[in-house]
Amino acid sequence: MFEMVKKLTVAFGVSGNEEEIREVIKSEIKDRVDEIIVDTLGNLIAVKKGSGKKIMAAAHMDEIGVMATYIDDKGYIRFSNIGWVSQFYALGQRVKFKNGVTGCIFYEEKLDEMKDLKLSRMYIDIGANSRTEAERKIRIGDTACFLGEAVQTGDMIISKALDDRSGCAVLVETIKTLPKTDNEIYFVFTVQEELGLRGAKTAAYGIMPDMAIAVDVTLTGDTPECKLMEVRCGGGPAIKIKDNSVICHPEIKRLLSDCAEKSNIPYQYEILESGGSDPGAIHITGGGIPSGAVSIPCRYVHSPIEAVNVEDLKNSVKLLTEALMR
Ligand SMILES: [Zn+2]
Repeated sequence: MFEMVKKLTVAFGVSGNEEEIREVIKSEIKDRVDEIIVDTLGNLIAVKKGSGKKIMAAAHMDEIGVMATYIDDKGYIRFSNIGWVSQFYALGQRVKFKNGVTGCIFYEEKLDEMKDLKLSRMYIDIGANSRTEAERKIRIGDTACFLGEAVQTGDMIISKALDDRSGCAVLVETIKTLPKTDNEIYFVFTVQEELGLRGAKTAAYGIMPDMAIAVDVTLTGDTPECKLMEVRCGGGPAIKIKDNSVICHPEIKRLLSDCAEKSNIPYQYEILESGGSDPGAIHITGGGIPSGAVSIPCRYVHSPIEAVNVEDLKNSVKLLTEALMR
């Protein structure tokens, strides 16, 4: 599992620029599914054909990042966020542009107080000496992801982009190990989730499944002095009850809970009080699609040191597999 996570997290895929990660996933699964479609927005849809229920399993392949907005005369690059990026998480980080150019993020030191730090007071240094030199490497509108290669320490994997490449890894493993079923399953690696669940919306409309299950990360309540939350790393996959974009369909919640109970898979319930996820877009598509989610407990979400438990990933594969077979 670690090797797959490492392979998927290292790939570039800032929202709207998912070409590289899409190719990596495609090469992993192309011989294991009946059909592969890339839709207009760039969602990667892998189909296992069948005559039973039409089920959509989704994980977003985009990651947060930054976009170059202005280059000054000395070659420093001002930037904007793509998805939610904390100025405190970004400070002192390395970034890599889609074309491979790397740089680092720092701030205007005349800032009096750290609490006044804003992304607009920060810049990327790519080692250029002038605007002209910088523009030979980077153009306005180019995006960059954070650098932070996956490492394993104990049961925890630490990496950038575990949101949601860990979910992508769960889908890839499920595709590879899924026993024969009558159900027709659409594994969808969605785009632009971090910008407002955009890919999931068109994918769900195109597929019109009978039900949908997304796999994404969720926050945890298991670090020092953090906000109270029931979810913890190592407690098993979290079955989503709600977040700010969806109240999960009771039948999907019941299905996932039943599968976990019957197969002795540890699980927990998730109530996420901030943020949304792909089911938020999927469940209000067409006349409505029963939707739910298997959430992977993840610490430090949207930082380059996101952290998930490897057993939670394996148990997420088991739980998703059981649910897709029903
Ligand atoms: Zn996510």
